[in-house]
Amino acid sequence: MPKSTLYQLNSLKADWQQQLSQAITDPLELLNLLDLDATDFPLIQQASESFQLKLPRAYVDKIEPGNPDDPLLKQVMATAAELDTDENYCADPVGDLQSMPVPGLLHKYHGRVLLITTGACAIHCRYCFRRHFPYSDNHSAKNQWQESITYIDQNTDVSEVILSGGDPLILSDSKLQQLIDQLNSIDHVTTLRIHSRIPVTLPSRITDQLITTLTSSNLQICMVIHANHSNEIGDEEQTALRHLNQAGITLLNQSVLLRGVNDCSVILSNLSHRLFESKVLPYYLHMLDPVQGASHFRVNEKQAVKLLKDLRNKLPGYLVPCLVKETAGEKSKLPLFEL
Ligand SMILES: *Cc1c(COP(=O)(O)O)cnc(C)c1O
Ligand code: SF4
Repeated sequence: MPKSTLYQLNSLKADWQQQLSQAITDPLELLNLLDLDATDFPLIQQASESFQLKLPRAYVDKIEPGNPDDPLLKQVMATAAELDTDENYCADPVGDLQSMPVPGLLHKYHGRVLLITTGACAIHCRYCFRRHFPYSDNHSAKNQWQESITYIDQNTDVSEVILSGGDPLILSDSKLQQLIDQLNSIDHVTTLRIHSRIPVTLPSRITDQLITTLTSSNLQICMVIHANHSNEIGDEEQTALRHLNQAGITLLNQSVLLRGVNDCSVILSNLSHRLFESKVLPYYLHMLDPVQGASHFRVNEKQAVKLLKDLRNKLPGYLVPCLVKETAGEKSKLPLFEL
């Protein structure tokens, strides 16, 4: 292909798509960019074999150079601890594979279904319970959600559809438009919820066109973002979130409680304040699902409940997330309270 044609093809890609294709996937390159010493990170190549390292440059920019303990770095850097096996930690800890009426659609809770729109994400979080999910085996992950749409259409008590993944905002605007149009045509569906980490990992994705697409239907739109630390919300991320808010999208945040990242009431309090400044309210603080390769992030329940009590003593009630854990077979996520 002549160079000029290649250039034209590249320039057809949106900014965010280019940034995505330039995401860092080589652990040594990341160490290099951040002025870190490889001896502080043994076995990173082996650890990244089972779950590839991946983060956009916009996320790298928020990591403090030279700090091996940076709370954002810890979420993305492959480490030797992932290679430890723990018999209590398994590949499908929350029983997802048992609640799929059709491939790629989870119907665990009353009134709402969760559609796995894609297996891809803009970033790979080391603690993710989906790191072992068999995406390739289900159709929705390949953008073939017709079977799911039919199921939703036939189940009239489903009023809310949650787009999840992977990360649904990795889909193109036209794919999202197609899906939204299909859901909008089902009378009993009133709410569309989008679970996405992209506003804080690839903020350039939040374009005017995306917002137009998301708000093009009669559905109520709610977006649940996923930030674990206030450092994840820089100026660009905050601007993106405010745009979503101005378009009338309800914004909530879910975090995962992670040892060495946010297991501290000051850090959680700063996160809540930063979210509020960005027009987002805290929703859930999740206990880590017992996923193989992530046990080093675990905070125990007693500590977690204590942290939440400290948080309640610092913050107005509306800035305190609900501490929950997911348990296979339950009708909702279970809140954890002080005894
Ligand atoms: C978390 C989750 C939901 C949403 O639960 P809410 O409590 O409404 O946020 C729905 N379906 C599945 C499978 C989930 O894991
Ligand atoms: S699904 Fe969410 S938590 Fe898991 S890797 Fe993707 S962005 Fe990270």
